Amino acid sequence: MNPQKITMGQDGRLNVPDQPIIPFIEGDGIGPDVWSASKMVLDAAVAKTYGGKRKIEWKEILAGEKAFNQTGEWLPAATLDAAKEYLVSIKGPLTTPVGGGIRSLNVAMRQELDLYVCLRPVKWYKGVPSPVVHPENVNMVIFRENTEDIYAGIEFANGTPEVKKMIDFLTNEMGVGKKIRFPESSAIGIKPVSKEGSERLVRAAIEYALEHKLPSVTLVHKGNIMKYTEGGFKIWGYELAEREFGDKVYTWGQWENAKKTQGEDAANAKMKNAEALGKLIVKDVIADNFLQQILLSPKDYSVVATLNLNGDYISDSAAAAVGGIGISPGANINYKTGYAVFEATHGTAPRFANTNTMNPSSLLLSGVMMLEYMGWHEAAVSIEEALATTIKRKRVTIDFFNLMHNATLLKTSEFAEEIVKNLK
Ligand code: NAD
Repeated sequence: MNPQKITMGQDGRLNVPDQPIIPFIEGDGIGPDVWSASKMVLDAAVAKTYGGKRKIEWKEILAGEKAFNQTGEWLPAATLDAAKEYLVSIKGPLTTPVGGGIRSLNVAMRQELDLYVCLRPVKWYKGVPSPVVHPENVNMVIFRENTEDIYAGIEFANGTPEVKKMIDFLTNEMGVGKKIRFPESSAIGIKPVSKEGSERLVRAAIEYALEHKLPSVTLVHKGNIMKYTEGGFKIWGYELAEREFGDKVYTWGQWENAKKTQGEDAANAKMKNAEALGKLIVKDVIADNFLQQILLSPKDYSVVATLNLNGDYISDSAAAAVGGIGISPGANINYKTGYAVFEATHGTAPRFANTNTMNPSSLLLSGVMMLEYMGWHEAAVSIEEALATTIKRKRVTIDFFNLMHNATLLKTSEFAEEIVKNLK
């Protein structure tokens, strides 16, 4: 066989050879343990599903502590170049360097590769211990904007000449008056939210919902208070939905208009009709309310499109309902260039490094998302089923073992071997 690169076709679809070269970053702390377990399952599933016709050619690239120890750099340029050259890559968790110029390696990668979607599917596997009564009602795919907002890294520390300049400018030239309550000791963060950035995120969410025949996209925002940034996100989202997706969607904005012009009953009838016709419903919820709604009535939500900071909170909060970040996968994607970095959503849990005890499911399921992204659907499904069987049989790692009755405790590598045994 002949290992080749994945490429992006002119039609915006990926060309995936039978032996694609895929770069991986094993990660720091528990990264090597969860990566070797995940790789074992991914390789076994691909080999079994495609009878040896397909195989991933893994190519190690460096980031984090391993990179620093070998090259003196936390995120070598060669790593970013490889992520671009091969389009699709996968990574374990990385230590956030303390001090120095890098705020977070993950944020740096997202910015450098312009990975504007952080994709976080949240779904429950039968048997996974959960703090809610009906975790089976949680089945959401969160599209979190990844490059803008207060989270994008434009901040000025208090007491610096930069922050003084900024505060002087805001007070003297922008008329913020006394809104900066303690100007002498304030730090300042900037929250850019653009029409373009909001539109590409909402577009990706709507396309995903239509492709997977899902019932709704919910725009989650805090536009009641931050009217131009988060409020803009909502308005631009609705406008884009109506302009680009026309008949395929029905929005709450259209419902509002119908209510104004034809009355509430007529508006409700239109909404019912749209649902009956299988149109995608595009709605919005304010972020604080959304955090309670996903606990009170998770069934009402399917695809979620939101800004960077809201998305950070929502993803982990929703993940908690289905078993926590130990089993929640994630991906950072630019659907235009095709660049995609699949990743564990937990951190490096340094206390447990090299103990071979942690749950590899987050990274493994990120690998499953990667297979789906590549169009290797059959292998992806086979891993999901084998993982579900393993959990149902209560043969699990310590995090789940501690919360289950009569379970069998497995090491990280034993858990992976068990999943491999359960592959059909
Ligand atoms: P963490 O996710 O590393 O660990 C918090 C706790 O969660 C752990 O003590 C452990 O009990 C549990 N946990 C985490 N992963 C688990 C797994 N796979 N199986 C079972 N239990 C698991 O968060 P932290 O302690 O806040 O951060 C440690 C380091 O990781 C920091 O340097 C942080 O910046 C970094 N971090 C990296 C990423 C990333 O690379 N995507 C994400 C978050 C944190």
